[in-house]
Amino acid sequence: MPSPSSSPSTESTAFRSALEVIRSVEPRVADAIGQELADQRDSLKLIASENYASPAVLLAMGNWFSDKYAEGTIGRRFYAGCRNVDTVEALGAEHARALFGASHAYLQPHSGIDANLVAFWAVLSQRVESPALQRAQVRQVNDLSEQDWAALRRELGDQRMLGMSLDAGGHLTHGFRPNISGKMFDQRSYGTDPATGLLDYDALRETARDFRPLIIVAGYSAYPRLVNFRIMREIADEVGATLMVDMAHFAGLVAGKVLTGDFDPVPHAQIVTSTTHKSLRGPRGGLVLCDDELAEHVDRGCPMVLGGPLPHVMAAKAVALAEARQDSFRDYAQRITANASALAEGLLKRGARLVTGGTDNHLVLIDVSGYGLTGRHAEAALLDSGIVTNRNSIPQDPNGAWYTSGIRIGTPALTTRGLGTAEMDEIAGLIDTVLAKTEPGTTKDGKPSKARHVLSDSVADEVSRRATDLLSGFPLYPTIDLS
Ligand code: PLP
Repeated sequence: MPSPSSSPSTESTAFRSALEVIRSVEPRVADAIGQELADQRDSLKLIASENYASPAVLLAMGNWFSDKYAEGTIGRRFYAGCRNVDTVEALGAEHARALFGASHAYLQPHSGIDANLVAFWAVLSQRVESPALQRAQVRQVNDLSEQDWAALRRELGDQRMLGMSLDAGGHLTHGFRPNISGKMFDQRSYGTDPATGLLDYDALRETARDFRPLIIVAGYSAYPRLVNFRIMREIADEVGATLMVDMAHFAGLVAGKVLTGDFDPVPHAQIVTSTTHKSLRGPRGGLVLCDDELAEHVDRGCPMVLGGPLPHVMAAKAVALAEARQDSFRDYAQRITANASALAEGLLKRGARLVTGGTDNHLVLIDVSGYGLTGRHAEAALLDSGIVTNRNSIPQDPNGAWYTSGIRIGTPALTTRGLGTAEMDEIAGLIDTVLAKTEPGTTKDGKPSKARHVLSDSVADEVSRRATDLLSGFPLYPTIDLS
């Protein structure tokens, strides 16, 4: 866990008092909050996108900053009385710039999706809207004639994006139809080499040359290897595209200097987005980093696509970013990848099939078809056994995005709890036992089911007991006692 800033009893008192206050109004909410801590303490959390924020981060969110409207940017607000919001937003931006070596940081996005929307519209504003205003010799869109405005709106809606395909590990927000990005952009995707599972840069270059997108999006939710952002930038430059990197998943590895040089997106991309709650271990939220040319466009995020900023969450982001600048965070980031490698090795030696044959980052993608299961069977059987994961598509997945053939597991959360490589090997054993002993079930009319699974209670109970034993040596939030 991040080192507590105050003595254990102070933290227990803070959370106990908060719950007492909440209980006096709606006891059921206080109970649910307390129960959530108990549940999280009891579960072996291998969800690659989750973590445990420090008590300081959690407390920074629960206060009167929540009451404040602060549309605008630091020092230029549309509301009066924002000096304290200015303080925390400026502190957060300063920490983000220093941590990632970025020219500009924007802390307002409420989530990763929102950060991506801010980035898309910043690029559209810079590369489509600004030139149109210049051509029409006006300063802002309100000054355009009806005819020029209609032409600009058509042009904004007629741009191209190249993003990583979903089954290769890309994210819905990278131009896929169910998300607004797919409705805004004409999208094509790039993928991985079917033989190796690795990103195919040559094929990507060919597609980019042919498609000539405005934006190339790099970044992923379920790709277990490194991405070479220097090559991505070369390709983007060659075709006149802006390189945007969504580092939502691996921001903690960038912050902790595990990903450096060609694998650090910040020196290579014109714009980088992130969540703050995954490997970065902050509050739920997003941020955008960019070069100087994009800064003024990014800063228009609110009100362009965002509602009023959440000052309490920006305060928590500032605390989390300050934590990530401590040396201990570098150690944490190293341990995340060491744990993921140990988990992968533990699975491989027991015969599991892994997409790309291993991992270089914080996540591992198990191809559960090797066990004769769908991702849904595997996810449910593991949950029965006290192991929380999520199913995920694998490249060329025959089972589609709902049933899938993969299970994605990640180590940021358990690493925060203090588990190390020896425990990862034990966990690999538990996962392998459950998957090997699970069988596909049948539908009500006796046909093979992609959803129902069969796993004996005795196996599930035994694995759950071993998972609980394992976790008991690594208490979650050890400084907080609510009893
Ligand atoms: N980008 C990537 C790569 C993600 O993996 C995710 C979340 O899973 C997001 C964006 C969206 O983040 P949020 O849920 O905070 O909107």
